[in-house]
Amino acid sequence: MKLTAKVKLLPTPEGRAYLLETMRRFNAACNYISDLAWNTRTFKQVPLHHLHYHTTKERFGLSAQMVVRANARVVDAYGLDRRTKRSFRELGAITYDDRVLSWKVHASTVSIWTTGGRQTIPFVCGAYQRKLLETRQGETDLALVRGEFYLFATVNLEEPDPAEVEGVLGVDLGIVNIATDSDGEVYSGAHLNNVRHRYRRLRSKLQRKATKGAKRLLKRLSGKERGFANGVNHVVSRRIVEKAKRTNRAIALENLGGIRRVRVRRPQRSTLHTWAFRDLTQKLVYKARRAGVRVVFVDPRGSSRECPRCGHTEKANRPDQSTFQCRVCGFAGHADKVAALNLSVRGWAAVNLPNVGEANRALHGSVPTSPVQTPLGVGQGS
Ligand SMILES: [Zn+2]
Repeated sequence: MKLTAKVKLLPTPEGRAYLLETMRRFNAACNYISDLAWNTRTFKQVPLHHLHYHTTKERFGLSAQMVVRANARVVDAYGLDRRTKRSFRELGAITYDDRVLSWKVHASTVSIWTTGGRQTIPFVCGAYQRKLLETRQGETDLALVRGEFYLFATVNLEEPDPAEVEGVLGVDLGIVNIATDSDGEVYSGAHLNNVRHRYRRLRSKLQRKATKGAKRLLKRLSGKERGFANGVNHVVSRRIVEKAKRTNRAIALENLGGIRRVRVRRPQRSTLHTWAFRDLTQKLVYKARRAGVRVVFVDPRGSSRECPRCGHTEKANRPDQSTFQCRVCGFAGHADKVAALNLSVRGWAAVNLPNVGEANRALHGSVPTSPVQTPLGVGQGS
């Protein structure tokens, strides 16, 4: 499984100037090579390299290996199609490999090639990113994000073989409770929701103001809110994965592709929730993979109206947001737990009948390595 580790560089003002100049020259070189590729219709790595290597090296003052990287970047850019000419932003991200960038993870420094020669630059990152860096392999992108330099390193994780499972832990994601599992354990979002409400009030106040300062503050606010949700999601996903591993169970989650669309009262329809759901799903998936815990995605339709005991499905089984009571057999429980139970039952079917889960494989094959914002119609527990 490929993931990305992100670290922030802390260059001196001099180092900063070198990094900027390196980005400019690298991207200028890419544009030059792209022109050449386009005009001569040469899109393959080796022939293109021979067309320009010496000229590029001299004209842009790049090292031999940086020319190789620029060439590869242009070839990559034309990889998808050759119908439009590619161009590169002046300060767009540039790619390094081990010959032009070396890591001293324990010392928290990198030695990086720049137009001013090799620079040793300190970096900072969280404990999780540092752990990821242990299995770093291959290329690293240098990017300028809001005035700060970051390195995005490719990390290759060996996945242990998922063990034969003895059961399936269903996990229902919600808003009031972040997650509820089919054992009835609730991973509460009470604290998170308080923070959300506080931010939301502050945000609407700022929105009314609409001054430049207010806008800046708004932007910072959404970042903070996300940072907070990110931390909560890490903790919740770790607890769920540990539990599944300990009890030798797979995890069943609702299929994001066919995510339930339910009418939701307006205040709950926020992009943060959408983001937080998706983010939690991603964290569950990659932590499960690392732990060798199998994850199955199941169709969540009707999962909160169906009786896990007798199978009777009716809207009236769910008289309100938190209650489930079967109209036929009388089975009752907290609605989120019932939804999780149903996911567990469906997950068990998917584990035992591998071809049930078409959507499953589709989702498994394309787990983004960083939180991706995709608008989804995520609703409150249906
Ligand atoms: Zn029933």
